[in-house]
Amino acid sequence: MADSKRVDDLATLNVLDEDTILKQLEVRYKKDLIYTYIGDILLAVNPYREITIYTDELSSKYVNLKYRRSMRPHIFAIADNAYHQMKQTGVNQCCVISGESGAGKTESAKFIVQQIVRHSETHQRGIQEKILQVNPLLEAFGNAQTVMNNNSSRFGKFIELQFTVDGKVLGASITEYLLEKSRVIFQGAGERNFHMFYYMFAGLNDKKLRKYYLSTPEKHRILNGGRSQHSIYTSDEDFRHCQQKYNELKSLLITVGFTVEDALTMWVLLAAILHLGDLEFEFDYDLDGAYVSDERKLQVVSTLLKVDPVELAAALISTTHITRGEEITVLKNVEQANDGRDALVKALYGRLFSWIVNQINDMLAPREGYRGETRCNIGILDIFGFENFKHNSFEQLCINVTNEQLQYYFNQSIFAWEQSEYANEGINMQEIQFQNNMKLLELFMARPIGILSLLDEESKFPQATDDTLVQKLNERCSRNSYYIAASGVYRGAIFGIRHYASQVVYNAAGFLEKNRDTLHQNIVDAMSDSDNSFIREIFSTNFKGSSAQHNVSSKDRKAILLCAKQPKLRPGGNEKQRTMSRKKTDPKQPMTVASYFKESLTDLMDKILSAEPQFIRCIKPNHTKQPNRFDREVVLNQLRCTGVLETTRIRRLGYAVRLSFADFLRSYKFLHFPLSANIAPNAVNCYQLIQSTGLTEWQVGKSKPNDKLCSYDDKLLLLQALEAA
Ligand code: ADP
Ligand code: MG
Repeated sequence: MADSKRVDDLATLNVLDEDTILKQLEVRYKKDLIYTYIGDILLAVNPYREITIYTDELSSKYVNLKYRRSMRPHIFAIADNAYHQMKQTGVNQCCVISGESGAGKTESAKFIVQQIVRHSETHQRGIQEKILQVNPLLEAFGNAQTVMNNNSSRFGKFIELQFTVDGKVLGASITEYLLEKSRVIFQGAGERNFHMFYYMFAGLNDKKLRKYYLSTPEKHRILNGGRSQHSIYTSDEDFRHCQQKYNELKSLLITVGFTVEDALTMWVLLAAILHLGDLEFEFDYDLDGAYVSDERKLQVVSTLLKVDPVELAAALISTTHITRGEEITVLKNVEQANDGRDALVKALYGRLFSWIVNQINDMLAPREGYRGETRCNIGILDIFGFENFKHNSFEQLCINVTNEQLQYYFNQSIFAWEQSEYANEGINMQEIQFQNNMKLLELFMARPIGILSLLDEESKFPQATDDTLVQKLNERCSRNSYYIAASGVYRGAIFGIRHYASQVVYNAAGFLEKNRDTLHQNIVDAMSDSDNSFIREIFSTNFKGSSAQHNVSSKDRKAILLCAKQPKLRPGGNEKQRTMSRKKTDPKQPMTVASYFKESLTDLMDKILSAEPQFIRCIKPNHTKQPNRFDREVVLNQLRCTGVLETTRIRRLGYAVRLSFADFLRSYKFLHFPLSANIAPNAVNCYQLIQSTGLTEWQVGKSKPNDKLCSYDDKLLLLQALEAA
């Protein structure tokens, strides 16, 4: 096939260099062919405008696809494939979506869920609609406008769709990762707070707003970013859009199963967060401590949270320690009081978000009666892409480690496991080099000398500072070539990492505090004394969620590396991995964000490793969110970082389809043998069939004497042979 032609699958190109691949993607993109395969992997280039490839009609055409290649590459095809693989083999599936911020991960995740849920049956009426409505709900509370993306997810999520073994939808569950709580307090230039605040002001009329002591959003510190004179809505259209979103949200809350009371509780909490963010402190030289400067604001917050204003004020301006059995109260200075207030604002928002996710999980859980049934699931992973800003903090570090982990997993499944399988089967294959990022992952995850462990160790010392942390990292990690210790004028609380995607400079200022993420006990106590049962619930010790780290008992888990390093953990799961020990350590010890993060990453990898992966790689065509602009440099950089070229090469050389003799003959017998004939599943019959179709690119593996692996190039060739016959 001439390479100047468009190809649906890059692995079928004869010439495989960056330029050819780039040209292919560009030509396709200009024709709105945003999807392209590399063997079984899907590349998706963000069109940044609506294109008509998601109609109901087209969606139905991708249901029950016999031959994927008979239709153009599409995210729907991946969804269909996952569903059928699960149904046929009983093996859980996992769609791993990766890409930079704004590349289209969340949209892709939505299309997969839609395609699967819309076209499958269920015993449970209403469950499909509920599952579909969960996304806009989560987005209202967890997404925000950023420089990269107007609707950027500020949390990661893993959605698991649950099915009966015969493929009927039973329910779904959602795991959230690392909500960017700091956004509630602070947003960078050109960025916004979480959407929900803007929806609320646009959607509630004046009378309702007054009920929550609200008038205009510009008045509130956490929304106006110090620019109170400007309207926070960019235009009338923006305002109307937010208003419409609010109205939609009200109705979908009900569809999902929330009560009107739940909704009112949410608005009360959002209002309390806004007012709390406005509380200010002044220093009293007689008292030698900070006090709340505006009693009226304090009163409003207390009324909304249903807590005692005196207790709340005391909790905000002082800390209490117990030293040798004696209770000692220390007054805070203004800065400390500000920090305590912001910590509470973040805790309230984070816990509200976790509460919403928990509620959704209750509402989408398989009904009684179906709970015990053996089930299969399809997981869809949509986490934040790699980030590299001017200022990179602890949040970016966690996000980038997650991406390293996923890249490692991708490399393992595409290159390492694949090549070891060829070796085991005795199949001749040219070896492909790939960027192995294991050493880099070790730099973060190893114990006791990995960045996350060192951070935890340092967080235990009250005297430690962000500077001492960086000193420690410099001492212990400099031997790892991916670590860059700052030198010369740049000395200070910064360090660099050579990530797979690019070099990132981290500023460690605030790392320790962010990692401890502690709310002082007096604040927790004040909240637990609330007359509002919702507030009491989210501050109770059994409350679970990513924003309640200190409530979760610490588990000592094997480092993720170890589990990912097992030579072959592939579809179907593996006993070793299921029985991986989960030793519990001291449950009283408060859990740091880093250890909670490590644990949830390990849990996630456990799930992914026990499933069969479907990889979707999203690509940004430009950095300006513009349609019809294919910036070669921007795309090339993403292709390089994620090893697309190597992936293409291995898919080109590799044998993507592997069948046992029996399965092979069952599917293709008709090409050579009479339909009614009883053909024994052996090598001779396979050879005969293959020879008669003129196929050349196939090899026979050597696994199991009577059930050998028969590998051949592509189903398409068989189809062509069929047409020619
Ligand atoms: P990510 O989750 O990777 O940060 P999103 O999925 O939020 O990125 O996509 C960013 C924006 O790009 C979306 O809000 C939408 O405007 C646009 N977009 C992404 N994928 C598509 C698509 N398939 N069709 C049309 N627009 C898209
Ligand atoms: Mg997203």
